[in-house]
This record gives sequence, structure tokens and C-alpha cells, in this order.
Amino acid sequence: MSFRGTQSSHPADRRFGRRSLLKAAGAAALSAPLIPATAGVARAKDAATVDAIVIGAGYAGGTVARELALRGLKPLVLEARNRIGGRIWTGTFSGAQVEIGGSWLGPQQTLIHKELNRYKLSTFEDVAAEQVVLPGDQGFQILPPADAYNTLGKLWGEFYAGSEKYFERPHEPLFRKDLLAAVDPLSLADRLGQMQLSPTELQWLNSETSVYSGGPSTRGSLTGMAQWIQLSGGSYGTYSTTMSLRPTGGMTAALQAMFDESRADIRLNSPVKKVTESNGLVTVETAAGARFVSPVVVVATPANVWKTITFSPGLPAAHTQATTQGIGVPHATKMWVHVRGNVPATAAQAGEGSPILLMVPQQQLSDGRLFIAFTGPSLNVNNAAQVQAAVQQFLPGTTLIRYQAMEWAKDQYTMGGWGLRRPNQLLQLFPRIEEPHGRIVFAGADIARGWHGAFIEGAIESGFRAAEQAAALA
Ligand SMILES: Cc1cc2nc3c(=O)[nH]c(=O)nc-3n(C[C@H](O)[C@H](O)[C@H](O)COP(=O)(O)OP(=O)(O)OC[C@H]3O[C@@H](n4cnc5c(N)ncnc54)[C@H](O)[C@@H]3O)c2cc1C
Repeated sequence: MSFRGTQSSHPADRRFGRRSLLKAAGAAALSAPLIPATAGVARAKDAATVDAIVIGAGYAGGTVARELALRGLKPLVLEARNRIGGRIWTGTFSGAQVEIGGSWLGPQQTLIHKELNRYKLSTFEDVAAEQVVLPGDQGFQILPPADAYNTLGKLWGEFYAGSEKYFERPHEPLFRKDLLAAVDPLSLADRLGQMQLSPTELQWLNSETSVYSGGPSTRGSLTGMAQWIQLSGGSYGTYSTTMSLRPTGGMTAALQAMFDESRADIRLNSPVKKVTESNGLVTVETAAGARFVSPVVVVATPANVWKTITFSPGLPAAHTQATTQGIGVPHATKMWVHVRGNVPATAAQAGEGSPILLMVPQQQLSDGRLFIAFTGPSLNVNNAAQVQAAVQQFLPGTTLIRYQAMEWAKDQYTMGGWGLRRPNQLLQLFPRIEEPHGRIVFAGADIARGWHGAFIEGAIESGFRAAEQAAALA
């Protein structure tokens, strides 16, 4: 992650979009009656039979539902929560509409932009940083954004050196499998250790590697982040643009439109517990005991959650490895803070281990400014005094009016945050992780080939692939 300033023309200046609106009513979605019995498919006793079942109503599930509908199928969507969106969740804080999950889009993420165009939705640029607070040799220092970007850009350039070769075609991550063998085992911490960094430079980089890893930088893979850099265009500056845009109407708006177009039957509050394939049919059972039968099921939940569902026959080795090790990161807490007064739009970073690793300026309200903070595991977000002290590290003398934190990794239907592959997972999981398991197909940002893990772009990409696989089985 990086900063956007008002005084720089550096490409890194494009960043972080903001506020949006959940069509909360959309969470209720459509509820057309189930189509009884697909032609040619035997109807199981006490179970409704449908064309296709999609488990999970995030962007991956929404893409699958819409694409299956476009092929003439009527999907049933089973969603555990009382809303659509999953790791996308537009809510309210201090009277403003805010994104509790993912916020930003990049101009190079073509799939989401196609969806926005399809539904006549637009984007706008996020708040630009007026100043940047970074660790210095003697405590924090305040820098003009252009100076911070220049230094950060050079350091990240060195960090990712060579990735243009091993991700020669970043949308086909295994294209240079031969070169990946040497780098896929490396963690982000390993890569930092290979560089000759001063203690201050190390903190400038390990702030970000720690945020993305969800704790220690030993957890995230170099290839995971390097692929994002190459997908974005190859530099710190181009990567920064992936956080520059916000969709008007909120991150959920396009997803709602996809579900509307799909006319899928969406059952909220329906956590799935069991998926059983036998005799050419798949039976899906919810926690409440409802049963549905279909020739094909698409599992579009986070990979970390697969282990909470009983699959019969059991999951293949790659899927078992993914859900056991986890792809969703173990710490992902996004906190909204409201700071009193007229506060400069300040972007801030602190080194690994700090209570807040990254702070991003948002809009100035009449009584104060909003910020997004990505916290580290060392901050207890239930302790207001600790939160106030952590914010004051970056903004000395300011007062916190209120804050609100979402601990995604503790959420039972995510069991992790955004995804970032661990070392070795690219070569160990791909391409098998994309393959159907009999009549069970898998989708989700966590297992996307391109913009994997931390981007709805990847959820959509995997949804298109899964819909094609599912349509062939339906
Ligand atoms: C804090 C945070 C910040 C992020 N920032 C950005 C960003 O700025 N830009 C960006 O593009 N992306 C961002 N991301 C990543 C993005 O949100 C995800 O990559 C994307 O939303 C994942 O979509 P998905 O459909 O694969 O999974 P999800 O959105 O997780 O959807 C899966 C669905 O499955 C449901 N489910 C789970 N278990 C069951 C079950 N047993 N039965 C039925 N349903 C079940 C869940 O409730 C959920 O609705 C962020 C993520 C987080 C957590």
C-alpha cells in the first residue's frame, strides 16, 4: 500500500478511493420460488432440485450466478450471512457511508470496470494525502508526499527486482514455472533479509509486508505480492493506482446489480454444512437442515472456510492443503477512526510490530477527519485508550472522537482476511486448485489466477472460470 498526495505527479499519487453506499436492502435480494426439478434429474426425497447451487454470495458467487443465468440456468445461492457481499461490506460510521471490507479499485482491473460499465456505475478518485508520516532515525518524521513516494518507489523497485521475469505473463502465473522454483519458497521477510536495508528503510518496507501478511512478514509469499506488482504494470507507482478509485454507490453496488440480473434465488442466513456427491447429483445441506439437490455445486466461500464444510467424497489434496494452511491472512483488522478538528489529510506507516501499521486519510467532516487504519496484532482494538495512543503516534495532540474496528480474521464466515498465498503455495496449489472435484466446482478471490486474494477483480475472474466449468456439468 502506498500514499497519494496532492503535490506530486508521481504515478504513486493515484490511490485510495473512499466512501460508498451499501444497498442494504439489496441484501434481501431476489426471492423467486425455486424451480422444481431440472429436466432429466431425479428428485431426491425431501430436497428441492435446482439447476445449480452456488455457496456464498460474495463477488465470486455473484459472478457465477449471473453467468449461469446468462446460459439459461436458474441458480440457487446459499449465503451464510444476512447480507450479500462477504468481504465487501458497505456500512456507516460517524454518519458517513464507509467500506468495512474492501474499498479500492485500480484502473487496470478490467473485469470490475466492465461490470461497472455494464451496470452504468462510475468511479471517483479517493482523498489525496497532503503529508506523509513515516518512521525516521529518531521517531516519526513528516514528509511531503512526493519525497516519500520517491524513496519508497526506489526501495520497492529493488525489492521486486526480477519479478518482471518470473511473472513475464502475470495473468498466467505458471508461465515461467522454471524461474518460480527459486522464488516461490521465499517469504516477504526472506526477501527483506536479502536486501541491504538501514533500520529505517526496513520499517518503511516491513510496514506494508506485515499489513499484507496479516502479521509477521514471514507468512506472506514474495511471489504473492510480486504478482500483484506485475499485474498492476510493474512498479510501486503502478501498484499504488490499485487503491486510487472508489465506485460511486459503494463496493457492493455492482455485485447487487449482478445478482439482480441473475434473478437467482438467494437464500440468506443459510450456512452450508455438508456437500455430498453421489450418482451424478450433489446434495447440499444447510446448518438448519434444509437440503437441495443439483447436478452441480459451486463453492464460492473463502478457502479458509472449506474445512468447516463436510465434503463427501473428501476434498482433493490441493484443496485440503489450501484450507488447512489458509490463504486468507490470520490478522486483518480494518478500523475507522474519527479524529477531532481540522486535521491534515495524513497518510502514515509504522514498522512491523506497531499497533497501527498503515493509516489512510479519508474525508474531513464538519467536526473532524476520518481515517482508515490497518492495525497490527499488537493492538487490542477493544481497548479505547490503546487505540487513542496508537492514533496519537501519527497525529500527536489529536483527540479521537470515536472508532469502529472490524476483525475479519475472527469472522466465522471468513476465518481470515484478504488472501495472500504463503510461501510455496503458488507451485503447490496451482493448477489443481482450479479444477472441479467431480461435480463440485470452486471459485473465490483466494484461488484466482490473476488478481488473487486481496482484490474483487480476482473473485470475478475466478467466477467466470467456475461458471464455465459448472455450465459444462449442469
Ligand atoms: C479488510 C479488507 C480490505 C480489503 N480491501 C480490498 C480493496 O481495497 N480492494 C479489493 O478489490 N479487494 C479488497 N479486499 C479483498 C476483497 O474483499 C476480496 O478479495 C473479495 O471480496 C473476495 O470475494 P469472494 O467472493 O471470493 O469471497 P467473499 O467475499 O468472502 O464471499 C464469500 C461468501 O461466502 C459466504 N460463506 C462462507 N461460508 C459459508 C457457508 N458455510 N455457507 C454459505 N455461505 C458461506 C460468506 O458469508 C461470503 O458472503 C479486502 C478484504 C478485506 C477483508
